[in-house]
Amino acid sequence: MKFILGLDYELFFGSRTGTVQNCLIRPIDELLKVTNRYGVRLSLFVDAGYLLRAAEYPALQAEVDRIKQQLSELSKQGHDIQLHVHPHWLDCHYADGEWRIDTTRYRLHDFATEEIHKIVADQTKLLADISGKPVFAYRAGGWCIQPFTALKDALWDAGIWLDSTVYFAGVSTDTVRGYDFSRAGTKSHWRFENDPVEEEPDGRFVEIPISACKLYPGFFWKMALVKKFAGNRFKPWGDGRTMIADSAYYLQRLTRPTYSVVSIDGLKAATLASALRQNRRWGNSGIFNIMGHPKSLTPYSMQQLERFLRDHHTQLEPITFQDLAGMKAVATAG
Ligand SMILES: [Zn+2]
Repeated sequence: MKFILGLDYELFFGSRTGTVQNCLIRPIDELLKVTNRYGVRLSLFVDAGYLLRAAEYPALQAEVDRIKQQLSELSKQGHDIQLHVHPHWLDCHYADGEWRIDTTRYRLHDFATEEIHKIVADQTKLLADISGKPVFAYRAGGWCIQPFTALKDALWDAGIWLDSTVYFAGVSTDTVRGYDFSRAGTKSHWRFENDPVEEEPDGRFVEIPISACKLYPGFFWKMALVKKFAGNRFKPWGDGRTMIADSAYYLQRLTRPTYSVVSIDGLKAATLASALRQNRRWGNSGIFNIMGHPKSLTPYSMQQLERFLRDHHTQLEPITFQDLAGMKAVATAG
């Protein structure tokens, strides 16, 4: 089974963004200490909108340079840099040493068609310049990929033909981040054209869904308790604040089984082995495509990842999205 470890490389979007050092640079270094031992290369979905916006402020030049330096070194070492879009950075301002975050236009869909084209083109180009490699894979910020028809021309024109946003049985009724992946299957990949959950054999785009797992309310109760009482081992390196989801999001997870992405973030890292078993049971033997956020990694989650890789690395073949570049040839042949 192939194995992809994809990280959404971004700051926080709540009242405090957190620092570049603690949300990005440090946790990636900690993660590499584990993954390097098992030959796992990272696939980073980089929030390039932050980089472009921050570059407009001389006070932030040093941290922008630090990020570019980390990303370009990683690319040279064989790690993969791909596109993650959080367009609200265009509406954010930096003053008096902190960001004034405005997430009114959180979704790419909240922008005009020409703006979407420019955002995707500018960010893709920036990342390709940094990494020196083709950028062709996309993960939508906040899972906001639908309706895809509003985004597909902008993505295609920028050279993006692979998406990795969807996950099996994923549904969100959140007013800002609403998405419906309930029709997505458990396959490890498929082609599509107008909706990433709708397979179209002649579609130009390829979906590599994030692997999913079923989580029970007990897990989220534990998570809530750990957040409140646990010590440093469970504390993320990231030092910002998350955007608050609406209360239905939490209520749902605390009261009935829900499907979630397989993730190395915080406590979720404890479920990696059972998630792999679930995926095999569902018939996904192609790609175990798991994710995480540098900002949400903890010493505990790194321990769990280490244990998972130690026990399973012989059954997993680590790849990055760059290794899937050959899938495009089929897409454009017809
Ligand atoms: Zn994100």
